[in-house]
Amino acid sequence: MEGVIFDVQRYAIHDGPGIRTNIYLKGCPLRCWWCQNPEGIEQKPQLMYFEFKCLHCHLCVDACPRNAIVIDENDIHRIRRDLCDGCGICSSKCPSNALKLVGRKVSVEMLVEEIKRDVLLYDASGGGVTFTGGEPFFQPEFLKEVLLACKELDIHTAVETSGFVSREVLKSLMKDINLFLHDIKLIREDEHRIYTGVSNSLILSNIRFLVDSGRRKDIIIRFPVIPTITDTDHNVDGIANFLADLKLEEIHLLPFHDVKEKYERLGMPYKMNIHDAPSQERLKEIKERFEDIGLKVVLYG
Ligand code: SF4
Ligand code: SF4
Repeated sequence: MEGVIFDVQRYAIHDGPGIRTNIYLKGCPLRCWWCQNPEGIEQKPQLMYFEFKCLHCHLCVDACPRNAIVIDENDIHRIRRDLCDGCGICSSKCPSNALKLVGRKVSVEMLVEEIKRDVLLYDASGGGVTFTGGEPFFQPEFLKEVLLACKELDIHTAVETSGFVSREVLKSLMKDINLFLHDIKLIREDEHRIYTGVSNSLILSNIRFLVDSGRRKDIIIRFPVIPTITDTDHNVDGIANFLADLKLEEIHLLPFHDVKEKYERLGMPYKMNIHDAPSQERLKEIKERFEDIGLKVVLYG
């Protein structure tokens, strides 16, 4: 059994209790305009090009078996994404690391070995492993195998999810997950469709389902604060009402950061025309709105 991941981050402290290892799974069914990890959207490996590191030696052009790297008249690289199959030959030849292949296949056994390296840290800090992405449930069989291995080893597991997962998959994996870091982005169906590409009805009903299944205390809501999109009064009020009804206890606010450069390096379109982070004043107002309904609010910078 193999999965595709694009990063393993050790010593993480913001994605669940204690010191954690964050595993970034590649592939996501949503297309959020503001996605902070665009390298996690596509499941296939992708090339990132860091122009400022490039020596213009053209070794990559000569190495590519698919003629997918084209140099224009200004000596600028154009990667033909339609031709590139993510083989990584060019990045292995590049002398300055200007090309980076994002995404690699990994077996369950290899990943579990990587996770096990920090068992002592998990034990000492009350930490564990957090699966994030991308959308971890997008690779359900692989995720299940790794979760089961963690359970065998008595390692705490968290899954950071959009909640856009079939009920069948959720039911089959939920008992092996200790903590759900569950996004809510937009409460109105029409806005959710515009800004993420999918309906929110499954997402909201999955939160209800988890609560009704006795998992209320194992859910932390994550709310991305995106200026003019998610931070509107009607959206914040709507989400607050939804959470109050479910009697959830904790929410994390994740302020927007501009990641335009990441999209450019991946050759992906970036739809955001707002580039500033939310103001401290607006974050404080939103924090207070959620505190008013009795939620513990954690604000990340
Ligand atoms: S990853 Fe492979 S196919 Fe893609 S540009 Fe590099 S060498 Fe060519
Ligand atoms: S091999 Fe690397 S440094 Fe040389 S031209 Fe290609 S991207 Fe630039």
